[in-house]
Amino acid sequence: MTTSEHAPAPHRAAARRSLEALALGDAFGERWFPLFRKPKEAYEQVRARRMPEEPDWHWTDDTAMALGIQRVLDQYGEIRQQELAESFALIYDADPARGYGYGMHQLLPRVLTEPAGWRRLAADLFEGQGSLGNGAAMRVAPLGAWFAHDLQRVVQQAELSAQVTHAHPDGGAGAVAVAVAAALSVRGELDLRTIAESTPEGAVRDGLERAVDVPFTTEPWRAADLLGNGQRIRADDTVPFALWSAARHPDDLVAALWTTAEGFGDVDTTCAITGGVVGARTGTDAVPAAWLERREPVPGGPAA
Ligand SMILES: [Mg+2]
Repeated sequence: MTTSEHAPAPHRAAARRSLEALALGDAFGERWFPLFRKPKEAYEQVRARRMPEEPDWHWTDDTAMALGIQRVLDQYGEIRQQELAESFALIYDADPARGYGYGMHQLLPRVLTEPAGWRRLAADLFEGQGSLGNGAAMRVAPLGAWFAHDLQRVVQQAELSAQVTHAHPDGGAGAVAVAVAAALSVRGELDLRTIAESTPEGAVRDGLERAVDVPFTTEPWRAADLLGNGQRIRADDTVPFALWSAARHPDDLVAALWTTAEGFGDVDTTCAITGGVVGARTGTDAVPAAWLERREPVPGGPAA
């Protein structure tokens, strides 16, 4: 039925590493929102690299949707769009209070009642433009890790995964960029120029091309100023800085997450992206135990 019978075995272990680190970034990043501490306090704490003291770091919609992708990959070995739409809708329905954005609150309850209508429902969002938000990018790193042996497949599968909720080309381009980054990370080849060249033309690729020219000696807050920090919750405003941070620290997940946090903005999502990409290579073994104890467990572990 599929062409995957003779394909190389997926990188299940790398995908799991990516998912665990994505959830860590998501839960860590979430701590810096004004809901939990005043912006000035958050700024000083991040600059001083002081771990958030709260005992429970819950992950949010970024991880919930990544789990939706993981379940489809586990079951079918590739993205099947209607099954993915249903997976997202069921996970949303089980806990809608995970911090989903406006578009997903509109879309996923409708998909739950009409799974076969996902394509029309996604295209109808935002007055028929489709979503260009960062939601397709934030959840996709484990997919890139899964198909790391075949970059063309990474691009194709990432696009399929994005279309289910993000019909606007920029939403899809964000997913392609992050998935390619995760695949390159698994291979030890993380490189912003290669990611940019693999990304469809448009605002996300333009941002990645700008990121190539930002030296890694640049202060993270300044890089976020130049590249965007997700404040507008668009893919092109989120993905370039998150991937710049990942490429700055390809072998150090904790350093990568602190760098990303310094950008603030949509910080759970930028940290989820950076975490999923770097963690696809490093895993979470070098992360302080106190961080891992605080982070809400991710269903489906331990790592394969
Ligand atoms: Mg979130």
